[in-house]
Amino acid sequence: MNGHRSNRPSFKTHVHVHEEILLNEYWFGGGRPVMGKQFTAAKAAERRITLLGILGRAARRHRKLGDDRLGSRLELLNQKLKACRPQHRCGSLPCPECSRAFQRAKVAGQIIAIRRLKGTRVGKRVVMANVIPLWMTYSPEQLTHLDVRNLNRWLKDALTRGGFKRVMLGSVDFSWEADRGLYQPHWHIAMFTSNREALQRRLKLIFPSLARGDRPAVVSKSYSLGFLPYKDKAVKIVELLRNNRRGLPYLLLALDRLDPLELMVLMRLRVSAQNGELQFKPIR
Ligand SMILES: [Zn+2]
Repeated sequence: MNGHRSNRPSFKTHVHVHEEILLNEYWFGGGRPVMGKQFTAAKAAERRITLLGILGRAARRHRKLGDDRLGSRLELLNQKLKACRPQHRCGSLPCPECSRAFQRAKVAGQIIAIRRLKGTRVGKRVVMANVIPLWMTYSPEQLTHLDVRNLNRWLKDALTRGGFKRVMLGSVDFSWEADRGLYQPHWHIAMFTSNREALQRRLKLIFPSLARGDRPAVVSKSYSLGFLPYKDKAVKIVELLRNNRRGLPYLLLALDRLDPLELMVLMRLRVSAQNGELQFKPIR
């Protein structure tokens, strides 16, 4: 075993899949699938340096305030991200380079899976459903208790109770609601439908509005699979760096505890790895 592995979180599932992606440097470079000009390998490398600064400053600030525990956790994360390099990837979600690699591997695998599924779904089209459980929110400090596995299990149960049996490829995302000072988890889910309006009505039963103007369940048409990188981005890091630098260290600590593969919610599909690539196969 390589010594650097001791620095990794020990996720109970997906260990093999996780390692395969990190050892495939293709995902850390350019080429297909393209993530957009804000998310090139060079931008990710730059962003990692920016985060090192943010984590280092936050660690010193919390130490000065007498919170050594939080200070040490931030310092450890800073060191982990600092040590990330080819063949010794940190594999941590807050690492812009590693999270981009996971995002690209997921998108590449899903493009193949969706094209294959399409062949047997005549008259149906791929749509992206955005669903928000408006009553589930986290303050920056509450993120310490975030359990993404529970959150995703709740979604799967709710969809199953709602009578959904179709294949779905979903991913959780945490947006920062500046006016409320809260992080709002929500999901982007790719699925097939022959009736977009009916599907949206069914999803609204699971994701009700709390106030006028809320749009907690929206199903959008997709003309290509170009929405997949957006679906699998995990957090909107560009916006967070712009408007929530203060709360960002808490989010980074919370993300560090999560397995990048567990951000996904798969219905009637399972994920595996082969030759450094992800494969999504139907469960029959
Ligand atoms: Zn990394």
